[in-house]
Amino acid sequence: MARRSARLLAVLCLAAAPAVAQLRMTEVPIAGPAGVDSLARLGFEVADVRRVNGRLYAVIVTEPRGERRLATVGYLVEPVTIAANATTTPADTYHVFRSFDKPVSGIRATLAAWAAADTLIHVDSIGASLEGRPILAVKIGAAADAPGRPNVLFLGTHHAREWISTEMAMRLIRWLADSLPASQLAARDIWVIPVENPDGYQYTFTTDRLWRKNRRPNGDGTYGVDPNRNYPTFWGVDNSGSSPVTGSEIYRGPSSGSELETQAIVAFHAAHPPVISVSYHSYTGLVLYPYGFRPGELAPDQQVFQALAGTDLAPFVLDSVPASIRTTYHSGPGWTLYPTNGEYTEWAYRTHKTIAYTTELTSGCCTPDSGYYYGFAFPDDSVLVERVFRDNLPFAVLAIQDAGALPVATARVESVWPEVRVSLEAAAPAPASLTVRNASGQLLTRNALADSLWRGRLWYSWRSDVSVDTARAVRVNGAGLTAELISLAGAEDGETGWTGWTRSAEALMGSWSWSATGEDTLTSPSVDLRGRTRIWLQLWNKHRGSIYVPAQRGLVQFSPDSGATWSNVYAVTGDGPGWYPVRVDLPAATGAAGARVRFIATGGISWWVDAVGFASDSTNVFQILTTTASLGVSENPVRGNQVVVSWPVGASAARVGIYTFTGNRLIAATVTPPNNEFVWDLTAGGRRVPNGAYLVVVQVDGKVSRQRLFVVR
Ligand SMILES: [Zn+2]
Repeated sequence: MARRSARLLAVLCLAAAPAVAQLRMTEVPIAGPAGVDSLARLGFEVADVRRVNGRLYAVIVTEPRGERRLATVGYLVEPVTIAANATTTPADTYHVFRSFDKPVSGIRATLAAWAAADTLIHVDSIGASLEGRPILAVKIGAAADAPGRPNVLFLGTHHAREWISTEMAMRLIRWLADSLPASQLAARDIWVIPVENPDGYQYTFTTDRLWRKNRRPNGDGTYGVDPNRNYPTFWGVDNSGSSPVTGSEIYRGPSSGSELETQAIVAFHAAHPPVISVSYHSYTGLVLYPYGFRPGELAPDQQVFQALAGTDLAPFVLDSVPASIRTTYHSGPGWTLYPTNGEYTEWAYRTHKTIAYTTELTSGCCTPDSGYYYGFAFPDDSVLVERVFRDNLPFAVLAIQDAGALPVATARVESVWPEVRVSLEAAAPAPASLTVRNASGQLLTRNALADSLWRGRLWYSWRSDVSVDTARAVRVNGAGLTAELISLAGAEDGETGWTGWTRSAEALMGSWSWSATGEDTLTSPSVDLRGRTRIWLQLWNKHRGSIYVPAQRGLVQFSPDSGATWSNVYAVTGDGPGWYPVRVDLPAATGAAGARVRFIATGGISWWVDAVGFASDSTNVFQILTTTASLGVSENPVRGNQVVVSWPVGASAARVGIYTFTGNRLIAATVTPPNNEFVWDLTAGGRRVPNGAYLVVVQVDGKVSRQRLFVVR
């Protein structure tokens, strides 16, 4: 996205207490909602978006050094006065929203009253904040927890100003106690922590409505650690996903897990590890899941995360807030918003295998007249707040249901080329090896010790550490999985039949990828898939886009009839600056005579695609290896550059010999099980052997098999 030169308008925060005198609210003119993402990429959190005299401004709370940094990248700084409503000291007199400490109606008092009146609501403190406020955990259902019951956890307000997240949590407590069937309550241990950060939350009611962090004095005049950058997983792995600067809105703290609030959550999880958790934030309208720390990184449990939250093509959570910029919540890995580290869901997932989500509640608005996002300042309107709650209730109920039996994922090959990626059942025995066949029929064996095999909650994810640019088929030995590429395209010169898009030197493999410039459609040539079954589309992609602009997205469509009819099969939104693979199952492609795909970029998304191919799980490319004959050869007479010799796998190592017909031994090799094949490149001693007849002898488990072979190149 082109960087705009813009004026930066700065004001002193009217409510600045001495401790936060360094912080100022600044407004940055932006051309449209996409400007919010540009600022996020620079490390600024946009507190609000407002329209003044017809122009759109992003509101940022930052220090003078942040303003200077903006200036160094092209923004001009100029002070200006600001409407009083956003910065005056908030009074604790809202209709819907309530502070933590407020007598009678505050969060603490309300929970105490509910617990006193309702036998299904139990309130306990799991720790205390720096200012001595309890971090309250509410259990709905039986008072005692049982090890046999799955734990489900809902969290609100890590970030102080995100009041709607606490209201979401409070309404959820009430609804669960009033409306969840008793049988479901009895089958789960359901917990809600409505305010993770009580000091910061209280501060937003008394002093600074847009305060984000907790209230730790950092010893240098600044206050606060970002509680959602302080968790011990991936803590501080870089300075874009969190900041070492004390005054930053995303300051990660002096050490991992340094904050009392973090320690309380860590201890709670050790005692009650949730199967599923949902951490509510605001705003944007999305459901994020691990990973978020590095663009392009996918969790081994990606299929499970998607099974609950849906995809951009079939989202689970709807947004019914009037005039909201989104009608559905985007779901995807955390980095589709922006990278974060030391963040809750990654810690819970990595530490407790919790299927953990961050729900960023709706942006609300823009309303046509004001042009404002509601942003953090969600209206103090019980009807609108209830709508947000109702939009998000089905996902909460689904989490409670699925915590008893997580969705079943499929063991499958995720990508054949150029990097082999495989998802495997954790319950299955660890596979011994991968066999990869390249374009000329040669076989390459990889084993799990040499490559990356990551374990998720349910699944292994196997990434071959070698890129096999010419991989055409893969078999997971011992797991019953094979996949073969039927067609492939990498945007290289000489590949014909593709239309639209341009070639980009930002390639995953080879020299080129396909790149969308503006609104543009890339259409593939037709591929004959007659006789083929179990077909899927593999592609690798990356993208730069804004979740705040729903029109900005990428859509993949499939046609079985050479382009006469098309259907949507995959969609992508947001940011994905690192290459990652996508597998799209295409049941409609079975036996199609004219299979085509097209990639439709809209709304100004930048989108790169490479390593595209139709693949099939039902492949006979390795069939020769399962022959019951004593010896198999891939070709006889041999007309190519090599021949594959195979035999029924034995208990002990096989000895392979290849002889001339006059009895000279050319090749002697030993192959250990479970491998049961040998690729001869038709050379001996580094030289090509002449055409003619040869003898192959394989000894395995005391049995000797012979095969006559003719080479007729
Ligand atoms: Zn937040």
